[in-house]
Amino acid sequence: MSWSIKLFTLGGTAVRMHLTFLLLVAWIAVIEWQHGSPQDAARGVLFILVLFACVVLHEFGHIWAARRYGIRTPDVTLLPIGGVASMERMPEKPTQEIAVALAGPAVNAAIAFVILLVLRLDASQLSFGAVQGSFLGQIAAANLVLLIFNLIPAFPMDGGRVLRGILAIWLGFGRATQVAARIGQGLAIVLAAVGLMGNPLLVLIAIFIFAAAGGEARYVKLRELARGRAVTDAMIAPTEGLSVMATAEDAAALLARSAQRVVPVIDGAGHLRGVVLREKALGAVKQNRGATPVLELMASHVPTIPQSAGLETAIPLLFASRARCIGVVDDVGRFVGYLTPESIGERLAVRLGPEKRSSGWLRG
Ligand code: ZN
Repeated sequence: MSWSIKLFTLGGTAVRMHLTFLLLVAWIAVIEWQHGSPQDAARGVLFILVLFACVVLHEFGHIWAARRYGIRTPDVTLLPIGGVASMERMPEKPTQEIAVALAGPAVNAAIAFVILLVLRLDASQLSFGAVQGSFLGQIAAANLVLLIFNLIPAFPMDGGRVLRGILAIWLGFGRATQVAARIGQGLAIVLAAVGLMGNPLLVLIAIFIFAAAGGEARYVKLRELARGRAVTDAMIAPTEGLSVMATAEDAAALLARSAQRVVPVIDGAGHLRGVVLREKALGAVKQNRGATPVLELMASHVPTIPQSAGLETAIPLLFASRARCIGVVDDVGRFVGYLTPESIGERLAVRLGPEKRSSGWLRG
């Protein structure tokens, strides 16, 4: 995820913070300062930081459970609306998905339980108003809110993943995802309506859930379409690439004369060094920076896949790639073409016939 900075790495997982998270901290500080003292502002900021430490622990609950099933999690990003762990792949068995989904909320339950033990309170005494004096009490209450909120069955939130896991036992993974995503989007509309009555953060979360549910449904649909097909069925090839010496102007010229969405940058040995996205190349030219080397504009770390591979294995790589593009290579590692979600959608839709071409998953 771009616009984020790495804070630290724990057990092979990089913990990143999205820059908009700093905006949230600043916003809390300003609000508290306006209504109280600098001490109130410091307390408000500290509260948010401790709360987000709890969110990180929640994410590590998922990460730990996923690792038990052999799934690694390269990074977790803190957003103002919570944490997002990007797992290498999703658990395939419904029972595994249910276990991984429940492990996060279980951490919040444990934190709240330990604080309640320490404070010798019971849950009925907790509310944001009633425990104003106790910082720990507020943290416990916030963890209970996180617990309940995450268990709302709005896919792709944890409760929604549990729902998909349960549905998948009877309906199969693909159909269960479509149903869970629809329910998630319906609940997102309800949340947004409630949020519009005075909670802007809830509206933001609702928008996130709506988009993420659609994205996840597209992902699963694309993977089902890809099943049993070869990478070569959907790759864009032959493609024109540029050398490492080329400039933004060269990239813009290539995009103007071809139908390509991205410009591969190829080194002297025929290996893919990275890709320049259309907006990047055209943006640089528009800002009179046409002489900028492509090496400065390109997204590096573009995953590659052998052309002999199955298309299904390309889908998780494609969604994990920041450039939303992966390179296809021959058996000696030379670049032969590329894949994007759009290229797969278009190639496979053509084969599926016109009635499928207008379905929603092709967009985005
Ligand atoms: Zn979670």
